Amino acid sequence: MAEFDYDLFVIGAGSGGVRAARLAAELGARVGIAEEYRIGGTCVIRGCVPKKLLVYGSHYGAEIEDARAFGWTCDDVRFEWPTLIHNVHREIDRLNGVYTRTLEAAGVDKFLTHATVENPHAVKLADRDAPVSAKYILIATGSHPVMPDVPGREHLISSNECFQLEALPDSIVIIGAGYIGMEFASIFAGFGVAVTVLYRGEQILRDFDMDLRDGLAEALRDRGIDLRMDSNVAGIEKEESGYRVALKEGGSVSAALVMAATGRMPNTAGLGLQRAGVELGWNGHVVVDRYSKSSADSIYAVGDVTDRKNLTPVAIREAHAFVETVFDNKPTPMEYTFIPTAVFTEPEVGTVGLSEAEARDKHRLVDIYKSSFRTLRATVSGSKERVSMKLIIDAETDKVLGCHLLGPDAAEIVQMAAIALKLGVTKAQLDQTMALHPSVAEELVTMRHKWEPPAPIKGSDAAA
Ligand SMILES: Cc1cc2nc3c(=O)[nH]c(=O)nc-3n(C[C@H](O)[C@H](O)[C@H](O)COP(=O)(O)OP(=O)(O)OC[C@H]3O[C@@H](n4cnc5c(N)ncnc54)[C@H](O)[C@@H]3O)c2cc1C
Repeated sequence: MAEFDYDLFVIGAGSGGVRAARLAAELGARVGIAEEYRIGGTCVIRGCVPKKLLVYGSHYGAEIEDARAFGWTCDDVRFEWPTLIHNVHREIDRLNGVYTRTLEAAGVDKFLTHATVENPHAVKLADRDAPVSAKYILIATGSHPVMPDVPGREHLISSNECFQLEALPDSIVIIGAGYIGMEFASIFAGFGVAVTVLYRGEQILRDFDMDLRDGLAEALRDRGIDLRMDSNVAGIEKEESGYRVALKEGGSVSAALVMAATGRMPNTAGLGLQRAGVELGWNGHVVVDRYSKSSADSIYAVGDVTDRKNLTPVAIREAHAFVETVFDNKPTPMEYTFIPTAVFTEPEVGTVGLSEAEARDKHRLVDIYKSSFRTLRATVSGSKERVSMKLIIDAETDKVLGCHLLGPDAAEIVQMAAIALKLGVTKAQLDQTMALHPSVAEELVTMRHKWEPPAPIKGSDAAA
């Protein structure tokens, strides 16, 4: 008789958990997986996928406006949120089914319940008395939105609830200016909602390249989004219709809805990890090594719960590496350079590699190439659509360290640029690449002039 019920028991059937369970089962391991909400996890049920569908939906208003200049007559244009949200949920249900069938086809046992770790080799399932035993346990429980600790926080919604709204509000306050806050600001604005963003920092999108941050902030303001930096929320009060958000600096903003996009926390509370010998980090994340192994030999963790790079493709790659290491006899360490990422705002952000500030910190000599231009489409539509591009080069090796884009299709362009950067492309090799004309991306291979910081003005303090 086998020593354990399972070779692998996975807690959490999101991006990382489903991939690990399926791959391990396909290699012949006996695998169980527990999911307390819906199979598919954040990305599929209330993250990347439904968000991107809302992003698509929010673009049509501006595109219909542009279409008029291209000769289209677009009369009686109306938008119905219930139709969009119904269709988004139909797609979520379909994907939930796809993920469920994937697990079934691989022979993984599913347990649709809350799970906790009983000891390094046992998992307790909420809907049954006896724990299940496993040689290895994989923690893939993801993360949840954190609400700011202010009076009236019970009135706040998070990104989770944005996918459940029965009607669009006429106005919304979004607290926080990270990528999720900015994406929802852009989505709501696209549907004609009056959006105010309150953020305690000095500029949106902390950790991104400064030119992207400034460029996106300007473009969002141009679209009518009220971005208020250095704003600290004192509390939220219910009003006759909607809510009033009071600011510590004085004054307040009223809106029909208030959303918090103030970060996410790993799902480890009450999971029993510490009693199983698993070390947790400052915000409760599972501390793991390069192979995703925790401080307990039989317990591994992947995805957002480890708070490394909280993105779906990273969770999937970590799951893959874990299975190769533990079940395929191929120790595979994780590597985190040149991870492309996007912010699906309008205009879109695509970025890979180091920001200018990071590059200047890590490299002795850095060259910068920048370009900013109006799109060809805008010359006819009359819209303000622009593109900004920036390349960061190690001046000593000529290697491209970072590539940052703001404008249409930035995500698609940067995904391809990421391949070149990962392979160590040099600026000279970009210059040798033939341009594809007319395209936005051609600018990446035609930037010839180094950007020089403006010379200090003689006689000013800066020159002293
Ligand atoms: C609004 C939003 C937009 C996003 N957009 C993008 C994007 O555009 N691109 C991108 O790459 N990433 C995006 N992300 C991030 C991405 O969704 C996550 O990085 C990814 O889902 C992490 O996968 P995971 O497997 O670690 O966790 P998850 O996918 O969150 O899965 C964890 C699962 O564990 C379950 N669970 C938790 N605790 C237990 C328990 N005790 N017992 C049983 N089950 C449990 C949860 O219900 C959940 O289903 C977005 C996230 C959000 C919130």
